[in-house]
Amino acid sequence: MLKKRTAAILGLVALGGLAIGLIIVTAPSRDEAAAAGAFFTPDTVVGVEDGVVDEVDGISPFADDLPAIAKLDPELRTAMQGAARDAIADGVEFVVTSGWRSAAYQEALFNTAVIEYGSAEVAGEFVLSPEESRHVTGEAVDIGRTDANSWLSQHGADYGLCQTYANEMWHFELATEPGGECPPQLPNAHG
Ligand SMILES: [Zn+2]
Repeated sequence: MLKKRTAAILGLVALGGLAIGLIIVTAPSRDEAAAAGAFFTPDTVVGVEDGVVDEVDGISPFADDLPAIAKLDPELRTAMQGAARDAIADGVEFVVTSGWRSAAYQEALFNTAVIEYGSAEVAGEFVLSPEESRHVTGEAVDIGRTDANSWLSQHGADYGLCQTYANEMWHFELATEPGGECPPQLPNAHG
């Protein structure tokens, strides 16, 4: 718990653009967290360094300076950016609504879902734990908007990109060889 809190505080420090090496010994309040632009949940504070996408409409798939994009598996990132370039030629613009996530961020999402859905079992249909999520290993990317999702469902396999869960039309993983065939979709994240 102490470790997690420390990591959360360090993330907050990085977010606030404060000097490296500064140590804050008290946990940040909700207001402090919000002031720093952090995402606040009951258990932890995470920010852009954890892969949080803080733009309402998502970020550019080419934003290699942001951890959400930079820490994706390089093969997935290359495939996604190649697809995004070709989609532009068809008049379709990709945005990334979520990419790589730190374990702390995934845990925060999971905890929030457990509160929202009332049990870990139901929450698990929508959000995976840090141990299970392929966002944490950088092997999954969520793409918006609807026209980009449609474009990818038609052309994604040309790049090896497949929608892997039937209930998440935005969630793509490298799941076949470029030009191959995507495997059948699982009904949800827990199959
Ligand atoms: Zn996803």
